[in-house]
Amino acid sequence: MSMQQTVFVTGGASGIGFAIAEAVLDQGWRAIIADRDERNIDQSRKALARSDRDVHFLQLDIADEAAVVQAVERCEAQIGPVTGLVNAAGIAKDVAALDTSAELFRRILDVNVVGSFVASREIAKRMCERGSGAIVNIASVSGIRGNIGRVAYGASKAGVITMTQVMAVELAASGVRVNAIAPGPVDTPLVREIHTEEIRAQWIERVPQRRYGKPSEIAGMAVFLLDDRKAGFITGQTICIDGGFTAAGLLVS
Ligand code: NAD
Repeated sequence: MSMQQTVFVTGGASGIGFAIAEAVLDQGWRAIIADRDERNIDQSRKALARSDRDVHFLQLDIADEAAVVQAVERCEAQIGPVTGLVNAAGIAKDVAALDTSAELFRRILDVNVVGSFVASREIAKRMCERGSGAIVNIASVSGIRGNIGRVAYGASKAGVITMTQVMAVELAASGVRVNAIAPGPVDTPLVREIHTEEIRAQWIERVPQRRYGKPSEIAGMAVFLLDDRKAGFITGQTICIDGGFTAAGLLVS
């Protein structure tokens, strides 16, 4: 039995975030699902309805700094100390670089990097005071490789990877670990929205395992990284979970 944790999961009401929240609950830990989308929250509330699960829901837009500050304060006062944070909330849009407006670029940075940063800062402050805690940021292989249509999204995820390194180094002496997971293509509502059949076929061709990942395949690593007893000496790392995508050179099949 691992130590009791309270894990705050942004974007926890859908896809990868939801799978992570579920895996957290399966550990017997407490999950706080923070998501912008009321409908997704309702759906996940129904999906997780079981009396023995210690799960809390809150409607929150991570791009709203004041709301994040307030939400973290309220959670700590009313639910308890947050011992783990997973930044899974994110948005994506496939647009060619030459067609990308500054407004779209800023919006993607605002949610994916700045939103994750503000949540990390607010929760890490308290973790540092207590001398322990773990943060897992959901980056992407698009922050490591140049994927077509991903100029803003890729830059945002590269930002998440660097933020992970800087915060890991700054917070290490305070007992707080910060790591990232860079998933390849994973079957989620977000991907079903932006990947056409053609894009899907292209991804499958480039992933050596020839398939999309499942949200549960990301969740296992998130739970591992959150657990000091398993990952206590791991900080500042980005783990690719991508069926071999970033390892591959020229594919011959
Ligand atoms: P998803 O759309 O299924 O889930 C994302 C959740 O985040 C949604 O419930 C959404 O409401 C919430 N969200 C979005 N903006 C928010 C905001 N401003 N404040 C609070 N909540 C917000 O997407 P997913 O595929 O599960 O993606 C989760 C994370 O994984 C994202 O950061 C995404 O970039 C990353 N990722 C996904 C893939 C993939 O192939 N699915 C690959 C690499 C990385």
